[in-house]
Amino acid sequence: MYCPDICGWSALACEFAHFPVLKGELRADYVVIGGGFTGLSAARRLAEEKPQTRIILIDAKRIAGGASARNSGFAVANESPGHAQLHTPAGLTTYMTKNRIDHAGMAELRRLVEECQISCQWEDTGSIHAAHDPKNFNKLRDHAKAFGDLGVDARLIEGADLAKRLGTSFYELGVEARGGALLQPAMLAQGLAASLPETIECYEDSPVQNISRAGDGWKVQLTRGSLTAPHVIVAVNAFFPRLGLKRLQVFPLVLTASLTRQLTAAEEDEIGHAKTWGILSPQSLGATMRLTKDRRILLRNTVEYRPSGIDGTLLAARRKVHADGLKKRFPFLDESAIEYSWSGNICISRNSQPVFEQSQPGLYLCGGYNAAGVSRGTIMGRLIADLALGGQSELLSDALNLIKPNLIPPRPFFDIGARLRLSGERKAAQSES
Ligand SMILES: Cc1cc2nc3c(=O)[nH]c(=O)nc-3n(C[C@H](O)[C@H](O)[C@H](O)COP(=O)(O)OP(=O)(O)OC[C@H]3O[C@@H](n4cnc5c(N)ncnc54)[C@H](O)[C@@H]3O)c2cc1C
Repeated sequence: MYCPDICGWSALACEFAHFPVLKGELRADYVVIGGGFTGLSAARRLAEEKPQTRIILIDAKRIAGGASARNSGFAVANESPGHAQLHTPAGLTTYMTKNRIDHAGMAELRRLVEECQISCQWEDTGSIHAAHDPKNFNKLRDHAKAFGDLGVDARLIEGADLAKRLGTSFYELGVEARGGALLQPAMLAQGLAASLPETIECYEDSPVQNISRAGDGWKVQLTRGSLTAPHVIVAVNAFFPRLGLKRLQVFPLVLTASLTRQLTAAEEDEIGHAKTWGILSPQSLGATMRLTKDRRILLRNTVEYRPSGIDGTLLAARRKVHADGLKKRFPFLDESAIEYSWSGNICISRNSQPVFEQSQPGLYLCGGYNAAGVSRGTIMGRLIADLALGGQSELLSDALNLIKPNLIPPRPFFDIGARLRLSGERKAAQSES
């Protein structure tokens, strides 16, 4: 049965207890805004290091219910080297800095999942960059070579071997790389929230309207209350611009995804009982796919610039695009196999660099990892807390040394450029969508 506009991962996770709405005027030592991977990690780190202080975590909607629950569940250890200019010393330095951060993110996630016993369908499967269209094969060969140069355990698979590995002959060439994990993102995010130290006070359905200076600290204005604190960490990802922050550096993109029902015994025969996989496209707007541990297929093949979000009519149209993508790969599956379709926001900058800074004394901003925030958000959240605590480490220096996001033109000029560029990229990725 199809459940419209419900994130499949959240629906399939266990019931997750609600936190209260924040009302009245409260004071805290630290306020963390945003209950995704970044905010959860930041709040946890603050509580570990400062157990006697008052730490408040707030979210506009449900904690662990935003992009952190809605993503495709790839915990990335080695970002596709195709996205970095490895052929220049500066490009290589930038890639390696991010790579150290991502590896630390994977290690931190692994530690938390084990120590907090978070059940989230974690599998050390890695990922497969795969292409259908021969025009993308050279890109994949470049990926394989770059992975090899970087010492990543990766191999090219093609033709019948690839078809057997995936259970579909749609793809012709792939690069399978180890290091990353596949997981159920809502179960992970909820597990991280449920295992937060008890000293953290959590509030949800409490949107922040405004953040302003108040004496030596900050006042955080909410719809039904307010908070004052000397230190505020803002971890709202795609929503920075709505809070008047980073307007000329980051912008949101809307992604939509669909998840099928579980495959039937006959369908399992059709795909040769393939082992679980996660496929990424060499084209930035190509399809991301998963064969999940609980034997469903996830497909995400739309990306659009729509700052006001997606309504039910648009989501229904995107679901048809997902169904077309499914049918191309698995002709025995049609739209009726889709159980859930949903949308989510990612936060992008022009040069794919995240936001990580103390923007004013006591005000810290962290987020914007493109579609790689599962591992990166987890570690960057911890590091932004370290920055607020006055800590020092090599990894913190790495995060501070990351190149800053490039400037973008103001709206409405930006809107026109973004739509034109995405339309070009969409055409280029059509054969892989
Ligand atoms: C469809 C999709 C697929 C993706 N696939 C992957 C993937 O496979 N692997 C990967 O690594 N990444 C992926 N991503 C990206 C990843 O989900 C994000 O990078 C990650 O969730 C960022 O975490 P975050 O905590 O910074 O932000 P979020 O998870 O977006 O959390 C921000 C929180 O801030 C809250 N908030 C916003 N405004 C306010 C306000 N005014 N007041 C209070 N709270 C507010 C929101 O409600 C939200 O809960 C994907 C994203 C999407 C949408």
